[in-house]
Amino acid sequence: MRPKYSLVIPVYNEEKIITELYRRLSAVIDQLGEPVEVILINDGSRDRTLSLLRELHEKDPRICYISLARNFGHQIAVTAGLNFVRGDAIVVMDADLQDPPELIPVLVEKWQQGYQVVYAQRTQRKKESWLKRLPAYVFYRILRRLADIEIPLDTGDFCLMDRKVVDVLNSMPERNRFIRGLRSWVGLQQTCICFERDPRFAGEVQYTFRKSLSLAAIGLISFSRVPLRISTYLGLLAATVAVLMAILVFYWRIIAPSSPLTGLATIMIAMFFLGAVQLVSIGILGEYVGRIYEEVKGRPLYVLSEVGGFADPDSAYKK
Ligand code: UDP
Ligand code: MG
Repeated sequence: MRPKYSLVIPVYNEEKIITELYRRLSAVIDQLGEPVEVILINDGSRDRTLSLLRELHEKDPRICYISLARNFGHQIAVTAGLNFVRGDAIVVMDADLQDPPELIPVLVEKWQQGYQVVYAQRTQRKKESWLKRLPAYVFYRILRRLADIEIPLDTGDFCLMDRKVVDVLNSMPERNRFIRGLRSWVGLQQTCICFERDPRFAGEVQYTFRKSLSLAAIGLISFSRVPLRISTYLGLLAATVAVLMAILVFYWRIIAPSSPLTGLATIMIAMFFLGAVQLVSIGILGEYVGRIYEEVKGRPLYVLSEVGGFADPDSAYKK
C-alpha cells in the first residue's frame, strides 16, 4: 500500500538516539491513522547506527533506510531521502529529537487545510550554546537582507512539504543545496508554526562550527549576488580615498609647504589597504567561481551503499 505520509530523517553517528527516536515516532505515527513510511538516511555513520537501522526495519516494515557510501553531509542526506519518498505529504526532521515528533500532527493539520509547505520556526533554542545561537541569529538576519527571495527567519529544515514541492526540489540539479532556501524559492502556499527547540536528546552535535559556516556560505551564495557587488563598493571606496589623499598631498605641497609629508607610513597604509581590497574581492569572486566549478563537474550528488524497504530502488534512484 502506498504510504500517505513520508518522514525523512538523516542520521549520522546517532546510535544513542535511534531507540528513543523510534519510541517517540511510533507513538505519533500510530496516531496519524494513515499509512506512513519513515525513511532514515544513514549519512556514512561510523558507529552502530546502520546495524540499528537494519534491526528497526526487520522489526517494523514501515521503517525503511538508505545508507550513503560515506558522509555526504546533512543537506545531501535529506536530498537522498527526498528522492525516495512515496507519500503525498513529506516531513523532514532531525534525528536528535530537537524537532519534536509530536508536532507532526500539527503540521499535517495545516497541510490538510491546503498549505503546500508548513515550516517550523524556532521561537527559542533551549540549552544550545551562545556560540551556536548568536551566529545563527545574525546569519538569518543578514540572509533576509541580502537574499533575492524571502527566506523566513530562524527556520531550519524541519517542515512538511506537499508532494508537488518535493517533486520540484527533486528536479533541481544543484549540489550546493540550502534546502530551507530552495523550499521558499518554490513558493505556493506556505505557512509556519512556532515551536521551542528542545535540547539534543543525547550524543554529540554533528553540525560542527565548520559545517554550519559552510552551510551559511552556501545559503548566501546560492541566494544572493550582493557579496559580488561588495567588491565593486570596496573598489569605489578605495578610489575615493585615493582622490582625498591626492588633494591632501597637493595642499601640503603648494598651499602649506611647511606641513610634514608623512612619507613611508602613508604609502604603506595605502598599499596594505589596496592589497586587502583586492584580496577580499578575489576571495568573494573565488567563492562564486568555486561553486560554478563544483556544479559543472556534474558528479552524482551521492552514492548509495545499501537500501532497505524499497521494492525497486533503481526506480527511486534518480540522481
Ligand atoms: N547529520 C547528517 N550528516 C552530517 C551532520 C548531521 O546527517 O554530516 C544529521 C544529524 O544526524 C541530525 C541532523 O543532521 O539528525 C542535525 O544535526 P545536528 O543535530 O548535529 O545539528 P543541529 O541540531 O545543530 O542543527
Ligand atoms: Mg541537533
